[in-house]
Amino acid sequence: MDFDLPESAIAVRDGVGAIAGKYGQDYWDRCDTEKRWPEEVWRELVDGGWHSLAIPEEYGGAGQGLLELAVALESLAGGGAGGAASFMYLLTPAFGGLTITRHGTEAQKAEFLPGIAAGELETCFAITEPDAGSNALNITTHARRDGDHYLISGQKIWISGVERADHMVLVTRTIPAAEAKPRTAGFTVFLVDIKKAEAEGTLTYRPIPKLGTNTVASSMVFLDDVRVPADRVLGEPDLGFAVLWDILNPERILAAAGGVGSGELVLEIACAYARDRAPFGKPIGANQGIAFPLAKIKAQLELARLMTYKAAWLWDAGKPCGSEANIAKLTAADAAWQAADRAFQTHGGMAYSLEYPVARMFRDARIAKNIPVAEEMVLAHIAQHELNLPRSY
Ligand SMILES: Cc1cc2nc3c(=O)[nH]c(=O)nc-3n(C[C@H](O)[C@H](O)[C@H](O)COP(=O)(O)OP(=O)(O)OC[C@H]3O[C@@H](n4cnc5c(N)ncnc54)[C@H](O)[C@@H]3O)c2cc1C
Repeated sequence: MDFDLPESAIAVRDGVGAIAGKYGQDYWDRCDTEKRWPEEVWRELVDGGWHSLAIPEEYGGAGQGLLELAVALESLAGGGAGGAASFMYLLTPAFGGLTITRHGTEAQKAEFLPGIAAGELETCFAITEPDAGSNALNITTHARRDGDHYLISGQKIWISGVERADHMVLVTRTIPAAEAKPRTAGFTVFLVDIKKAEAEGTLTYRPIPKLGTNTVASSMVFLDDVRVPADRVLGEPDLGFAVLWDILNPERILAAAGGVGSGELVLEIACAYARDRAPFGKPIGANQGIAFPLAKIKAQLELARLMTYKAAWLWDAGKPCGSEANIAKLTAADAAWQAADRAFQTHGGMAYSLEYPVARMFRDARIAKNIPVAEEMVLAHIAQHELNLPRSY
């Protein structure tokens, strides 16, 4: 048993941490208020190759794995970016880079990975539908074969980053849920050229007004006979469920890494305030009513970090990691939310001032309990797979 991070991950932590350290909370507040992508930070990540850590060297990446991506995301979030960091590492590095690296054909790798590594090609991921979020088996967006192409129609919701992305990793059904045996059969995952489909008038989108995570839009996406070449299928037609889990598990692990980093960030902001603020002549942090909840959150964050690294390590080793990914996501999202909530409490009335970053962190932390997979679904997974309890749905 060796709990030391590999040197590659230490270099990532220090390198990304140095970038994050250059941008203060004023910068992240501005990105949030202006609802804009943190382009300056993203460019620095791209220039340093920190976004393409998991892409093989032959395609311009660093040839590392999900562990290094998780450490990078945690470091960016903890170094100042908070919740904004998750989208920066999920959209293109994970949904595009990691998925194509593991499941792409040689031709797909050659076509997409160098562009991603160069920062010239970006991706997003679309599975959720208005009537199928937690129950992804029920998606109805369908792809039907038309010669050497597929025609895809349906509707997706909450798709983050579609306005920036060049390609969408799109989950469809090629066999309707009612006819699929087993129900996990009949999924096909595509790489869809967004700009081309937009130009042809077959793909449109509309951003959803939302409470937070403002550095990226999340949109309704309408697909009306989007024409996609058959060689843009990721993995095998009808057998996309295998690809899907290699998207969803890394998504949960990276969301956990973002939660750990964001939690550490807001915890430190709370502690700095608690060390300084002294309405009765001594710092409020000297009161155990303030200090103990913060200390408990520190313990929860340390535990969540351990499970996040373990889950990433398992994924990189090609081993099953479903329960670990879920437990990491559950514990990290909860610890991050507790941290934001206690930071809010620690700041008293100033928590409500938009001149402090706590209000933004509070609303961004809350959604992490619901996405990318909701807490209840994680608990249902653990109950079924780890406790052998009857399936509840
Ligand atoms: C800001 C944001 C960004 C997002 N980005 C993306 C993206 O880029 N791409 C994408 O595809 N999706 C994205 N999503 C969608 C997100 O993954 C889903 O919202 C999430 O999976 C939950 O699905 P739902 O909203 O349909 O909730 P539902 O499935 O309707 O669930 C509602 C509630 O009921 C609970 N529940 C449901 N079934 C059960 C059950 N059997 N037992 C107990 N409790 C249950 C759930 O846990 C949840 O609390 C995003 C969402 C948000 C808010």
